[in-house]
Amino acid sequence: MKIELIAFDSLGVRSMCTFVETKDTSILIDPSASLAPNKFGLPPHPKEIERLNELWQLIVKKARKAKVLIISHYHYDHYNPNRPELFKGKIVLLKDPKKNINKSQTIRAKEFLEKIEGIPKKIEYVDGKSFTFGKTKINFSKAVPHGINSKLGFVVETSVMEKNFKLLHTSDVEGPALKEQVEFILKEKPNFLIVDGPLSCMLGFRYPVTALNESIKNMLSIIDRCPIKTFILEHHFLRDAKWKERAKKIFEKAEKKKIKILTAAEFNNKPIEVLELKRKELYEKFPAKKIKKVSSELLP
Ligand SMILES: [Zn+2]
Ligand SMILES: [Zn+2]
Repeated sequence: MKIELIAFDSLGVRSMCTFVETKDTSILIDPSASLAPNKFGLPPHPKEIERLNELWQLIVKKARKAKVLIISHYHYDHYNPNRPELFKGKIVLLKDPKKNINKSQTIRAKEFLEKIEGIPKKIEYVDGKSFTFGKTKINFSKAVPHGINSKLGFVVETSVMEKNFKLLHTSDVEGPALKEQVEFILKEKPNFLIVDGPLSCMLGFRYPVTALNESIKNMLSIIDRCPIKTFILEHHFLRDAKWKERAKKIFEKAEKKKIKILTAAEFNNKPIEVLELKRKELYEKFPAKKIKKVSSELLP
């Protein structure tokens, strides 16, 4: 199995886009990326937009190559509604657009499905289902909450197995703090795990300390109970400047077990550049006219 980490927070954008190639098929999970619309009262810096454009070009290249496109939920950093042609001739595996979904994502999913109608070769709703492509098997979790409750909706976790090797992509679990998010991981027992870590950048506001503790405990138990070789810790967690400190116990345990805990940037042999955390510095170093309208409209 060939795994490529295409766009992630450590690479300067909000995304968990992952390309997987097996002997039988090629899969792109969550083909999109976005930027924080507002950080420290500032809109994205042109350097961030430049990075988003670069990575978006790479996502497009991989989307063209992939036979299967997966969308774990309907947030713009995980799907791009503005490029329906990318789905032409593809097998599109989608989080159920009607069941276990919040209001805003129900509306987005409906609009998205209308836009891509007739374009893909096949569309399937995947919550809790399995799909086989030759000897490659894809298992999806049932819908699990986006974070510690279902206010932001639900996501599906993806597991891809070829021979005895398994990759698992959690999507936006923001933890995992909940039993139901962890259950799928413990059942699948991945060798390569890509986790959306705790939302500790909102600690004490939108994310309680108990949830952080529970997430750390769960990750330690995952390391104990799964044959993991590579553990990618990413996405929401990296928006907390103190994430490495908070993950100390995980690094210690992993070291003992000779497991690599890495960000996508480190896996790709690149420096960690969570550009949104450096936004203030970027404006100081490279003064730029503030851009008013952002978010999904930024996507090429
Ligand atoms: Zn999300
Ligand atoms: Zn996300």
